[in-house]
Amino acid sequence: MAKVLVLPGDGIGQEIVPEAVKVLKKVAPKYGLELEFEEGLIGGTAIDETGKPLPEETLEACRESDAILLGAVGGPKWDHLPAKERPEVAALLALRKGLGLYANIRPCLLYPALADASTLKKEVVAGTDLVVVRELTGGLYFGEKRREQVEEGEKAVDMLVYTTPEIERILRLAFELAAKRSGKVTSVDKANVLESSRLWRETATRLAADYPDITLEHMYVDNCAMQLVRDPKQFDVIVTENMFGDILTDQASMLSGSIGMLPSASIGGAVALYEPAHGSAPDIAGKNLANPLATILSAAMMLEITFDLEEAAQSIRKAVEEVLEAGYRTGDIMMPGAKQVGTDEMGALVRERL
Ligand code: NAD
Repeated sequence: MAKVLVLPGDGIGQEIVPEAVKVLKKVAPKYGLELEFEEGLIGGTAIDETGKPLPEETLEACRESDAILLGAVGGPKWDHLPAKERPEVAALLALRKGLGLYANIRPCLLYPALADASTLKKEVVAGTDLVVVRELTGGLYFGEKRREQVEEGEKAVDMLVYTTPEIERILRLAFELAAKRSGKVTSVDKANVLESSRLWRETATRLAADYPDITLEHMYVDNCAMQLVRDPKQFDVIVTENMFGDILTDQASMLSGSIGMLPSASIGGAVALYEPAHGSAPDIAGKNLANPLATILSAAMMLEITFDLEEAAQSIRKAVEEVLEAGYRTGDIMMPGAKQVGTDEMGALVRERL
């Protein structure tokens, strides 16, 4: 019996996570996997109930589980809190750090039925199938932060720090992933300006010698942002540092039609965390409007990565594809002539096809 810790969190997390859990409950037994689910508190919801965004019991429960399924954290109710106490920092970043999850894998695949859902031209996005490997526990988000009073006013400092081992481990992961795909890695940096990027680029070039079958290219982050919307099909595996990856993956989400379609897996520690790439979407929370597919596809990644059940994961992806082919859409991917459904109905439609 394997244990999945379920952390719905805030906003739409409360609506989308139950849909993904029901999918797991239906699929796992078919592939001989017995799953036990336990629910925990995180984010603003945890602040309201316990006073802490990441209660010790939650972190403990994470460590004792085989996999974690997370919704999202944060929302306007907790935005007034000092940065260090806000759910996004004190819960999410602390959880990633606490579990040693240094790599975030975000596949960006365009389902053919959604080629018209993107704001980009169909001929540009059709055939998009790339993965962004984002470094998750280093760089600007984790570096020292401070403010000081200077003569001209206030001075704010955020440190961008990377060490060779941190860069090496994430790059190796990208090379290994590319070996299972089309064999191309694009390492994204800003080596023309940043010292940390120069170390990143030198390390990537050195490691590439260990992977003779992989083609490595380097790209500046500003160019990458442009190339992603100009010709996304040129990419296979993109590997980059924390902040660049944060921004580029939101941009890349539009290649798949909506951020509500983008799953992710955070790996590197003893237990992996699966979560949609989007946030808690307070603007649509509690209205049965959220797209649960990113979370359902994150559950598919869990079956594939943690439980080594590639076929089970594939069956979920196929069910999602069939629902989309049949013309069902949540609001974010709605298009003329399609049938709009709510969060719960979308989940049920996927399960019917499993
Ligand atoms: P967001 O991703 O929550 O929302 C951006 C836009 O996308 C909104 O218009 C929203 O309605 C829409 N959207 C997002 N997910 C959707 C879905 N599944 N279906 C349909 N539409 C969807 O980003 P934001 O508005 O910048 O942030 C809202 C809150 O979430 C903030 O508190 C932020 O800090 C937090 N956040 C959390 C995470 C996380 O928990 N991993 C990530 C990003 C943002």
